[in-house]
Parts: sequence; structure tokens; C-alpha cells
Amino acid sequence: MEVVAVSNQLKKRTVKEIRVNLDKCIGCRACEVACSGFHAKPKYSSINPERSRVRVVMDLLSDVYVPIRAGDYTQAECSGRNTYTINGKEYTQCSFCSVSCPARDLFREPDSGLPLKCDMCEDDPTLAEPMCVQVCRCGALTYASWEEDVAEESVRRGEMEIGLECLVTRFGKDKVADAFDQLMGEKR
Ligand code: SF4
Ligand code: SF4
Ligand code: SF4
Repeated sequence: MEVVAVSNQLKKRTVKEIRVNLDKCIGCRACEVACSGFHAKPKYSSINPERSRVRVVMDLLSDVYVPIRAGDYTQAECSGRNTYTINGKEYTQCSFCSVSCPARDLFREPDSGLPLKCDMCEDDPTLAEPMCVQVCRCGALTYASWEEDVAEESVRRGEMEIGLECLVTRFGKDKVADAFDQLMGEKR
């Protein structure tokens, strides 16, 4: 039988978020410049928006600017997609997708073809704010971070706990408690 040791500890997790206010974005692409410079090797040695982990999807005629940060890599493109109509103009789902995907060249290193992904400008020492947020003078990008408690369940349960849980699920907590009280009374 397993040794019974039940413990629930809480550990901290830092959640980082970049909030995007599309009403304030003017499509200046300063975020693309800053991101590509920050991630150049050596740092700031070159600027190439093709290497940026944030790209601004633009439609100048409709005055639509949408900064998209690079997300995960996928090996396969979607088999079915949506079409969005904004201010009377149609956009494919791919226009606003953050994925590095074989369906297009976005979020891929132009020389190597390797996928690019936003790393929130991880650095040592940690930046007060990611670069794209720092250079966004219009306030379209703002940064927030906070700590969250995450349950770190380290549970090694024995037969008794598992059996009790089954009984409670089947008969309800009160009936199990009554039966337990009755049993204990008989034993005394
Ligand atoms: S820097 Fe700000 S305003 Fe300029 S394109 Fe990027 S998100 Fe938009
Ligand atoms: S770019 Fe995004 S939406 Fe378009 S096929 Fe790839 S994963 Fe799907
Ligand atoms: S958070 Fe950093 S890595 Fe991510 S898009 Fe902004 S500048 Fe690039």
C-alpha cells in the first residue's frame, strides 16, 4: 500500500500581459523596429521588421492597424478558416493569427525560415516593460503583470482516501459522516 501523504502547497506564478488598444494604434510600426533591434545578435546591431516578433497588420484605406505578437509554431495549417468583415472589408482568419504557420511567411526568420515567437523580452536584468510597449508612444500597447497562486498538488493518496472519496461521491458527505459516527459509537 502507498504511504499516505496529502499536501496542497501554493506556489507563485507571474502572469505577464500586453494589452492592445486598437483605437490608439496609428500603424507607426515602432514596435516592429524595437522588437527586431532588441532580438538582433548582437543586440541592436540591426533592424529588420521581418525579424520582429510583433507585426502590425495594416489596411491604410480602412485605417485598420492591428499589432499581432508571434505565438506558437504549428506544423500544419488550419483545414478550415473563418472570414471576418470589418468596416465592410473582408479579412481572412490568417490576417490576425499569431501562429507561425506554413501557410504564410509571417513570424519566420527570413534567412533560416525558423519560427519566431514573442518571449516578452526576457532579459537579465528583467526589463521594466517589453520593448514594444516602451516605444509605443500612442499608448496602444500597455503592460501589466501580477502574481497568481497556483496549486502545486503533491498528493500521494492511499487506499483509504480513494475509498472515502468513492463513498462520498456515491452516498453523499452527510450519509458517510452519519455512518462513521454510528460506527465509532459502536466501537466505544
Ligand atoms: S508602436 Fe504602438 S502605435 Fe505604433 S504600430 Fe506599434 S502598437 Fe501601433
Ligand atoms: S496562419 Fe493561423 S489561421 Fe492561417 S492557417 Fe495558419 S494557423 Fe490557421
Ligand atoms: S514583448 Fe518583446 S518579444 Fe514580444 S513582441 Fe514585444 S518586443 Fe517583441
